[in-house]
Amino acid sequence: MSQPRIDTDGHGSRRWRTFHRIVIFALSAIPINLFAQSPFQFPTANHYLYERGSELKFFAPTAPEKPWTSGSFGCVRNDGQRLHEGLDILHLQTGKRGEPADPVMATADGTVVYCSSKPSLSNYGNYIVVRHLVGGIEIYSLYAHLSAFRPGLKTGDAVKAGDVIATMGRTSNAEIIAKDRAHVHFELNLLVNDNFAAWFKTTSPGQRNDHGEWNGQNLNGLDPREILLQEHNPNGNFNLLNFIRSQTELCRVLVRATNFPYLKRYPMLVLKNPVAEKEGAAGYEIVLNFNGVAFALVPRAESEMKSRAKFQLLSVNEAEVRANPCRHLVVRRGGHWELGNEGLRELELLTH
Ligand SMILES: [Zn+2]
Repeated sequence: MSQPRIDTDGHGSRRWRTFHRIVIFALSAIPINLFAQSPFQFPTANHYLYERGSELKFFAPTAPEKPWTSGSFGCVRNDGQRLHEGLDILHLQTGKRGEPADPVMATADGTVVYCSSKPSLSNYGNYIVVRHLVGGIEIYSLYAHLSAFRPGLKTGDAVKAGDVIATMGRTSNAEIIAKDRAHVHFELNLLVNDNFAAWFKTTSPGQRNDHGEWNGQNLNGLDPREILLQEHNPNGNFNLLNFIRSQTELCRVLVRATNFPYLKRYPMLVLKNPVAEKEGAAGYEIVLNFNGVAFALVPRAESEMKSRAKFQLLSVNEAEVRANPCRHLVVRRGGHWELGNEGLRELELLTH
């Protein structure tokens, strides 16, 4: 094919082309990780996380006498026995009658997938879920306790990182959030199963699910504090896939299931196994972190599986159970480890 002529107008002039080359050269000289390393932005103007020693300006602890960590992610409540699955980011602005007034912004480019505007239906109060694709990985941000959504915002809307989507508030059906600790509860999650609503109906008869698949139980949180700090580190070269893959292993479970949505949603977390490739997969060995995030899945052939059990606990990292016990996914009974009710429930949902 012949090259199209480009010198028919001023843009084709030699000077213009030289200028183009210089621009392209200059752009190519910028390290690629400048573009790649900060996929997530703060959901509000509060950036005190980056100031060492200013944690109490960033996090809203559960009470004045509690440490800032009670507003961060993980087994941070009830002496480490209760999970907090996001960050409670303190307000900076107050409006009428001392109510929080901070605009809440999308953390990354994405699509609004859920707006829950009936605060009495959730401990999140009014909340928004946004789907993002970061490095090819589906990740879901959640913003809770909002007072109001941006007028007109609805499910299906595309948003850009930094777009205002709501105003901070104090809505919740469970706790009364005092004005001085008004915050946005911010999560970054992997989605466990598209079929959540149907699964919930069969496993939790009589219990209400008002949020379809956008129920918090179907969203497994990663630590947004770690993510925001790592991507801020100029030497860190943050990469979301590496971040997920480098979670600390809590336990390993063999499941007799080969066709569940998570495998298709997160194929980058499925590892290779030549035996299963040759003989066909009869199940998956799944590695879970303390919060039940399945961060590595290895296909296993029938010849590699010793048990007929639906779920078989293969190993437990006891140090991690001690460090992060709050989900109680595995429990020790009569001197040996087994899957606890919470662990079984997590695996049932994952493989449903
Ligand atoms: Zn919270």
